[in-house]
Amino acid sequence: MSKPIEIRNPRTGKYDYVIIPPPERLLVQQCNRLRRAQQNWFDLGLDGRIDVLLKWKDAILSNRDKLTEALVIDTGRLRESKLEIDWFLSGIDRWCRLGSKLLQDTEKGTSIPFINLQQTAVPYALVGVISPWNFPLLLSTIDTIPALLAGCAVIVKPSEITPRFMAPLMNAVSTVPKLRDILSFIEGNGKTGEILVDNVDLICFTGSIETGQQIAIAAAQRLIPAFLELAGKNPAIVLKSANIDLATSAILWGSVFNSGQSCFSIERIYVAEDILEEFYHKLVAKAYKLKLAYPTLNSGEIGPIITETQAAIINEHLLDAIEKGGIIHCGGEVEEKGGGWWCHPTVITEVNHDMKVMNEETFGPIMPIASFSTVESAIELANDSFYGLSAAVFSESRDEALKIARQIDAGAININDAGLTVMMHEAEKNAFKFSGLGSSRMGVSALTRFMRKKAFLIKTNSNYDPWWFNK
Ligand code: NAD
Repeated sequence: MSKPIEIRNPRTGKYDYVIIPPPERLLVQQCNRLRRAQQNWFDLGLDGRIDVLLKWKDAILSNRDKLTEALVIDTGRLRESKLEIDWFLSGIDRWCRLGSKLLQDTEKGTSIPFINLQQTAVPYALVGVISPWNFPLLLSTIDTIPALLAGCAVIVKPSEITPRFMAPLMNAVSTVPKLRDILSFIEGNGKTGEILVDNVDLICFTGSIETGQQIAIAAAQRLIPAFLELAGKNPAIVLKSANIDLATSAILWGSVFNSGQSCFSIERIYVAEDILEEFYHKLVAKAYKLKLAYPTLNSGEIGPIITETQAAIINEHLLDAIEKGGIIHCGGEVEEKGGGWWCHPTVITEVNHDMKVMNEETFGPIMPIASFSTVESAIELANDSFYGLSAAVFSESRDEALKIARQIDAGAININDAGLTVMMHEAEKNAFKFSGLGSSRMGVSALTRFMRKKAFLIKTNSNYDPWWFNK
């Protein structure tokens, strides 16, 4: 019997939920059962699989209130939980539409006139998905849906910090028999994740760099593919010509949405020195208008910091910045209210790259602003980082912004906006540097990365080949 894990409620601080990770033997059995069922799932064909996924969507729609309720307790926030469910449901439709354009066998002639080539693609049998706590539903399903469409069986281990949403989600799965056979969500912690990596044929991981590196090593030892989506420290560059009103609104949203607990959050802001003062005055004025969603879910826009560890990291970064000369204009330290941890949108100036708030992921509603004198130095500052997930450039000139965007080492660059990748999944993009590894989880690659290409080289006549031994 595994040891139960008590789960903290982010609004009350009380440990009011318990999960019990499956013992290793049962988890291995479950992986084997899913793998055995996979061939039948693949044999259903793309249309058959789309049909099953749409039934899952219907089951979730009729279970939506329970799913929302559980997700809200997991994360302590309402607005983002509703959006997560919308994005998840629209994701099913989008991938189903994309799937119909793909995965078709083809046969054609080759450079050798009597040899034809038939191409097909074979899914990995069992895909493992391990996900973090900041968007529990979205990030445990973003890889799951395309893997299922590609014809894989999938086992998902969401974060032990936010596990409550799994029960209503699995209830919906259990009403769709063909899905129940090839999709499981399991409770558990890092140890459960390790066992999972040892028993799947491909692993999709979203989470911290440290865990991603451990998973990369474990996957390398088994020679299975690992798709890693890791941390970010995303810069925004605001050029002199930028529309300051638009830039401050977009950057505010991009920095404090989900209380800054988003991999795509803007965490470093570089502003042309001529407009610095106007920019931060406007940003501070807008930040002041945002309220904490405390004491009730509807009291404001900013939900709690979900984990105590993250609250401590945010405070450590703020104190480090203050000690080294940073000036806070609004917001400030994370504070305890009713057992939860809360942080007002915080604007800091006089920051530099020796500060943690500029060189480590903060994952809070913190907006550090530095100025630059030349475009070249802005690009240099943006690239002076281990991370390369996403970025933003604000300029009146689309061409100027794109020219700068091309020089930034990151996979997704928003022009005159921020955080678009959370809701717009058509973009093909890779994580650069320490922010990840592997094929794009968006666009057409979201599906094709779950399949291995297979070729049939077909001789079309009965002649002797000129290169055979003439015996
Ligand atoms: P984490 O690495 O601590 O945990 C993530 C998951 O890995 C959890 O389910 C955990 O149980 C599991 N895990 C822990 N140790 C493991 C091991 N040795 N083997 C297998 N599984 C293991 O990350 P977190 O704190 O939950 O998530 C926050 C991080 O995720 C942030 O750094 C954030 O930037 C990143 N993130 C990235 C993206 C992206 O798309 N790039 C999206 C969201 C979050």
